[in-house]
Amino acid sequence: MTDCLFCKMVSGEITPDTVYEDDHVLAFRDINPQAPLHVLVIPKQHVATLNDLDEDHAGLVGKMMLAAASIAQQEGVAEKGYRTVINCNADAGQTVFHIHLHLLGGRPMHWPPG
Ligand code: AMP
Ligand code: ZN
Repeated sequence: MTDCLFCKMVSGEITPDTVYEDDHVLAFRDINPQAPLHVLVIPKQHVATLNDLDEDHAGLVGKMMLAAASIAQQEGVAEKGYRTVINCNADAGQTVFHIHLHLLGGRPMHWPPG
């Protein structure tokens, strides 16, 4: 998708602050961090929202989760704890329509979320 911000990061047109990359997944620091650690984990393949996933994406979503856990370890928050979030559509506040997993850590989190 040429007009998608996160696809531009995958293609290299925009250079994110990358913390992890493999053949299927890219992870970079959020430009407006909501915690001391705030990383976005995205699939390199364009998928707009959680609603657009199908069975063929099951492995890809697994890779995103595994990448998040690995980054949490690498960034030193795995033992104390962290949160992963995927916002879907307006009520959840999704603003970038290329699916992304927020990895938040480095401070205590509250529940329920706002
Ligand atoms: P969401 O509200 O779940 O769609 O999250 C989108 C996230 O993308 C927000 O946390 C933004 O701060 C983040 N974001 C937007 N533009 C950039 C960018 N150029 N680099 C890194 N993160 C970004
Ligand atoms: Zn995209």
